[in-house]
Amino acid sequence: MEERFEKLFSAYQRFEDAARGFLLEAACRPGCADCCIDVGRMDMTTLEGLNVLSALEGLEPPVQKRLRKRLLRDKKKRGKGSRVRCAFLDQRDLCLVYEQRPFSCRQLYSVKRCDRGPPTVHRAAHALSRSFIDEIKGIDDTGLYGHLPNVLALLMEPDFREMYLARSLTRARAESWAKRYGLRLSAAP
Ligand code: SF4
Repeated sequence: MEERFEKLFSAYQRFEDAARGFLLEAACRPGCADCCIDVGRMDMTTLEGLNVLSALEGLEPPVQKRLRKRLLRDKKKRGKGSRVRCAFLDQRDLCLVYEQRPFSCRQLYSVKRCDRGPPTVHRAAHALSRSFIDEIKGIDDTGLYGHLPNVLALLMEPDFREMYLARSLTRARAESWAKRYGLRLSAAP
């Protein structure tokens, strides 16, 4: 796992370096959180989910309890097609797990303010992000991939977590968990 995390963090850093030129033009500022409020899909791998969970486990126990409940509720809402404000956004519209946020959140920015429309991203930056998403999914090739609350809800299942950490998850079991949690296999095309 340690080696996988090293690869993941290296990918985050290399993306940040490669995208620096684009990000300098971003209109995004702390507290402007349209991307986190109108969350359509915020996808991540199970490995990224473990990283987010480690940040969650560092929060005060009552906050953790509230967030765990909220994530399970958000997973159900998503299953019914609703868009939901990300559970990790606090009352000041700041991310509670910012340092451990997944790549989907890292790659999102807009060169125009989003109050009048969707984010505006450079085409070249979008292509760059695509290549890093493929790399990040490849690092977690025995895991699953999908919407943030669904991945975290799955990682809260002790059976799944144990098998995933032991790398004893067979393809058949992974497909069965994927179906139940609305996810895909990271290694799927
Ligand atoms: S994890 Fe953080 S950055 Fe990502 S959508 Fe949630 S609040 Fe926003």
